[in-house]
Amino acid sequence: MGPSGRGGAGHPALADTQPGVFWLEQPGRPAPRPALHAPTDADLVIVGGGYSGLWTALLAKERNPDRDVLLLEGGRIGWAASGRNGGFCSASLTHGEANGRARWPDEYDTLDRLGRENLDAIEEAVTRYGIDCDFRRTGELTVATAPHEVDWLRDAAAVGGGEFLDRDAVRAELDSPTYLAGLRDPDGTALVDPARLAWGLAAAAESLGVRVAEGTRVSGMSRDGDGVRLETHTGAVVRARRVALGTNAFPSLLRRVSLHTVPVYDYVLMTEPLTPQQLDAIGWHSRVGVGDSANQFHYYRLTADNRILWGGYDAVYHYGRRVDPRRDQRPETFEKLAQHFFETFPQLEGLRFTHRWGGAIDTCTRFSAFFGTAMGGRVAYALGYTGLGVGATRFGARVMLDLLDGRRSEVTELEMVRRRPLPFPPEPVAWAGIQLTRWSLARADDNAGRRNLWLRTLDRLGLGFDS
Ligand SMILES: Cc1cc2nc3c(=O)[nH]c(=O)nc-3n(C[C@H](O)[C@H](O)[C@H](O)COP(=O)(O)OP(=O)(O)OC[C@H]3O[C@@H](n4cnc5c(N)ncnc54)[C@H](O)[C@@H]3O)c2cc1C
Repeated sequence: MGPSGRGGAGHPALADTQPGVFWLEQPGRPAPRPALHAPTDADLVIVGGGYSGLWTALLAKERNPDRDVLLLEGGRIGWAASGRNGGFCSASLTHGEANGRARWPDEYDTLDRLGRENLDAIEEAVTRYGIDCDFRRTGELTVATAPHEVDWLRDAAAVGGGEFLDRDAVRAELDSPTYLAGLRDPDGTALVDPARLAWGLAAAAESLGVRVAEGTRVSGMSRDGDGVRLETHTGAVVRARRVALGTNAFPSLLRRVSLHTVPVYDYVLMTEPLTPQQLDAIGWHSRVGVGDSANQFHYYRLTADNRILWGGYDAVYHYGRRVDPRRDQRPETFEKLAQHFFETFPQLEGLRFTHRWGGAIDTCTRFSAFFGTAMGGRVAYALGYTGLGVGATRFGARVMLDLLDGRRSEVTELEMVRRRPLPFPPEPVAWAGIQLTRWSLARADDNAGRRNLWLRTLDRLGLGFDS
């Protein structure tokens, strides 16, 4: 979507917007669990209280109820990506079918099946543990807003990626004058309330006996006999037989993976609730989650109280790989997002945004998670979800547990699990390369999708940058 003619500073719909994460500010946030201050030990210590850590805790106990499991979270449960995302819980383990087929053509069908089983298992766990996270298996609608994207969607439909919808059919599903075509996947995506999913997973894990400490950042990790010693910034020392790292975009406790991901900031706006008349004006009766098809894409969805979450487009990398809460706000991106919103839904002129926020995603050069072990198999990690980790983190948890248990399984034998992506280069090369890539992707969007020499070279090397 190109820049609109709207000029001036400050979109009027942003006038009363609060900086803050809508999902985390809802009623029902659990009180913080106490930090760990005394030394302790555990069979399995999990670092990180986002979905990666929480699923690992839950599955570890389901597999072996006698295992003593301790989860250490540096901030609050779900405060980071897991509590602030768009809530698209996708079956895809590979950041979409095209990326998966290009990288693992021989095992893509297996990855697709494992991803669908993973999403079914999430739905089943949500029901079994009574997690109140507004889980709705709406599927997903991908829309074309530029002529060349229509062909992409037609091609995707031809290889089983969903049902192709022409302009009238897509506008009957959701009415925007910018839509030229759509691709409807019926059940490969569920929408969730992301923070409530994290809170519910923590409660479920605790109900099975997992100990959870918040406000307990792990500052160092070393071998200790046949186990691992973890130091925390509270001063408590923990001895673990095994460690699972679910630390996402934050600095890794393992030097060997520190160059494999970069934190990329993604931004979101939330509207006030729509009236029934406003909902009728856009006809969003199926409540399907939507994404557009450009390189710089938007994603959007309804909440339980009929707000629209509208995010994406800019994917911002800041020099030096730092995760910094000050980066959660970016006025120029919010302006752009507001403009694009009303270009997409002119029927909603006058609607206001109430919340604006951003967060870091862990981008790797293959756009999908990678896995591994360290310290002679005592420590496992799963990282690099690149903006599509709501569902895939449960799969990552399963992989980490199999690796830590020394178990050869269907998942540990996958090429996707055995091979790791190429790292990003150190600064300043990483910054320069990512800026050039972002610029090239934006140009491709404005140029009928044509990829320049830089992007074609990256494609040939199997490298890239995405959000
Ligand atoms: C704005 C935004 C929108 C997104 N939208 C979607 C979407 O719609 N669909 C989708 O699939 N994905 C989306 N994502 C990505 C998705 O949210 C993540 O892939 C997923 O939440 C990753 O979960 P995680 O547990 O690995 O990481 P996190 O949720 O980031 O959790 C990591 C945790 O580890 C803790 N930690 C780190 N280091 C330490 C340490 N040393 N000691 C103790 N604790 C530590 C952190 O405090 C943090 O709580 C989005 C992300 C963002 C930011």
